[in-house]
Order: sequence, then structure tokens, then C-alpha cells
Amino acid sequence: SSRIASRVQRIKPSPSTSAADRANSLRREGRSIVNLVVGEPDFDTPVHICEAAAAAITRGATRYTLMAGTVELRQAIADKLLRENKLSYALNEIIATSGAKSAIYNALAVTLEPGDEVIIPAPYWVSYPDMVIACEGTPITIACPESSGFKLLPEQLAAAITPRTRWLIINSPSNPTGAAYTLEEYQALAKVLLQHPQVMIMSDDIYEHIRYDGERTPHLLEAEPALRERTLVINGVSKTYAMTGWRIGYAAGPTDLIRAIDTLLSQSSGNCCSVSQAAAAAAMNGDQSFVASSVEIYRQRRDHMLAGINAIPGLSCVAPDGAFYLYINCSGWIGKTTPQGQQLANDGDVVMYLLESEGVAVVAGVAYGLSPYFRLSIATSLENLDEGCKRIARAAAALQ
Ligand code: PLP
Repeated sequence: SSRIASRVQRIKPSPSTSAADRANSLRREGRSIVNLVVGEPDFDTPVHICEAAAAAITRGATRYTLMAGTVELRQAIADKLLRENKLSYALNEIIATSGAKSAIYNALAVTLEPGDEVIIPAPYWVSYPDMVIACEGTPITIACPESSGFKLLPEQLAAAITPRTRWLIINSPSNPTGAAYTLEEYQALAKVLLQHPQVMIMSDDIYEHIRYDGERTPHLLEAEPALRERTLVINGVSKTYAMTGWRIGYAAGPTDLIRAIDTLLSQSSGNCCSVSQAAAAAAMNGDQSFVASSVEIYRQRRDHMLAGINAIPGLSCVAPDGAFYLYINCSGWIGKTTPQGQQLANDGDVVMYLLESEGVAVVAGVAYGLSPYFRLSIATSLENLDEGCKRIARAAAALQ
């Protein structure tokens, strides 16, 4: 008998962390590894943001802040939401958290009763189902295949909603596929949601700025403002400003939800880091040129890798609208035999084969709830990506 609670025993460690650990241990054994697992920008945080943090330390902004975050930070978030998303939020409708991850988890923690259902379109960010399970809810995953652009269709949503549905989680552009909803697609989903007032919507907008079509990412609440009272907007500075280590995310939404998250956090972790809050405010208030220049670099990598991967026999990949991943269809490899005589039965086998034979580390689609695929991150140098592509092509050529 374990002394660990069953709700925790049911969750698993992040598969991208396990994949990175495996790659690192092979590297320690002296193997040459091309790591295409990472889910964070490979850029440094822009200098003006770091300087704002240094200035905050110097002026003594090193104490507890308000639980929901400093007025300065929440004002910067409110200004950002109005400027970029045309969404109007008052300061008491906003809470800053230690990363978007904490905002999502705590929102689920304050709303789910045991057995409450959360609809999660697959492929999904790996943490959603486990967070739901950790809060004793039931994840209801819906397969959204490549043929529908990896996006949830209104009729799928309608069929999945039950009286126990508490949340729908939407992530656009998506990790891992990069698929982004259009305003019209949001309107069609909103039509279904309007018929089910018990369903809240969590809109995880963390990749909104990383877009390849030059489009501004539309918001569900632009498509249907009437959903505002049951929508929680989740975002943060990690991906947009290369600030993953600073741990600043936020939730914006109805005051009862925000207040409940505030209360739970005040009794568990407290406010997020004061110095990071100053940095995040500077990021949102300051010069935005880093965003466009980093997206341009991601775009070059995406185009380059997309061409490289689509030229490899048995693999195919649709162009992602945004985020910094390729979700690669490897159905053409399933059933093939490796030089070691192993038959590849699923995407887990494919990923192990790539790692063992060529030292390429990627994450199996099974982790994201849709197979047979693997996720490759383009948040690394073109040189690394080229080397990865060359090795994957060699692995393809060796299959029988
Ligand atoms: N949401 C999605 C879809 C993500 O991919 C990630 C990070 O990988 C997060 C949220 C968490 O971001 P943060 O670093 O702000 O906790």
C-alpha cells in the first residue's frame, strides 16, 4: 500500500520531460543527440525586460505582493487584453500566477467536483488530462483528426456535452499541432455552447502571437461576447517573450472564479515572484519588436523543416498555423521493420527507433492523444533542425 493519494497516483509525469531525460542520459553515455523535444523558445529574454527586473530588485520590489499580482502587472495585463484582443477586464477580474500552468490547474481545482467532466479536444497539451485527474475530474477527450484540421467540430462538441460537463478547454494555436481556430469556426462552436449554460470555457491563448499566416489570432469572446461570464482567458509571457523561467501567467474572467483562485493560491503558494511580475509588466508595456522578429525566425525554420520532413518517405506534415511544433504523421512507418529486426507497431516504437538508431529525440503522438504521430519542436537552431532532418531521413531509408 502506498502512502501517496490515489488521485496523485493516477497522474503521470510529463512525457516531454521523460523524453528529454532519456535523451540526456544517452548524451551522458557519449551518444550524439539532436534534441527536438523542447517546448520553450531558444532565445534569451529581451534585454529591456531583464533590465526592468534588475531595476525592480534595486528599488526593493522584493516583498510579498498582492495575492492577485501587483496593480502595475494587472494593469499591464488589462491593457494588453484590450489592445491585442479587444477584451475589457477590470483589475479584480485578473489574477497573475506562477505560469499559465498554475492558472489552469487552480481554475480546475476551484471548480471540479469528483466526476465532473472536462472536454479536451485531442491532440491536446499533455498536462490538461492529468490536471483534471489530479482535481478528481474526468477528462473527456475527443479525437480531432488531421482530416478536420485537428480542430473540434461543432457536432462533436454537441455530442460530448452532458449534464456533468463543467469545462471545455480550447488551445489555439495548439500545442502540439499548431492548428488555430478562425473567427467563423469559433462562432460555430459558440452556437453549441450557448445552448449549454453549465459549460465553462477555458481559452488557453499562450501561443497567440506565434502565427505564420500573418493573421492576428481571433478570440472566442470576439466571436461570441455572450460567453464572457463563463469563459476564463488563460495566457502568460513564457512563449511570447522567451520568459519560460520567470514563471508568470494569468487568468482573466468572472470575479467569482478569480476570487476562488485567489483564495486557494493564498493558502497554498502565495503570490508569484515579485521581480518576475515587474519583468512581465515591462514585457507587455514595452517595445514589441522581439515578438515579430522571433516569429520571423520560427517561420523560416517551419518552412525549412516542413519541406524537409515532407520529402521523407512515409512521413507527412500539414503546415501549422502557429506555435513552434510540427505534428508529423508517421502512419507510413507503421508495420515496417528496423535493421534490428523490430517491427514498428505504433508511434511509441517510432520515437524509440529514432532515438536508438539516430539519436533524434522527439515525443510520441500517444502522449497527446492522437496516433500515429510524433511532435518535433522547431524552437532550436536551423543547424540542429537540419541535422535532425538528415538523421530522420537516414532512419527512413533503413526501414524495410
Ligand atoms: N499551455 C500550453 C498549451 C503550453 O504548451 C504550455 C507550456 O508548455 C503552457 C500552457 C504553460 O505555460 P507556462 O510556462 O506559462 O506555465
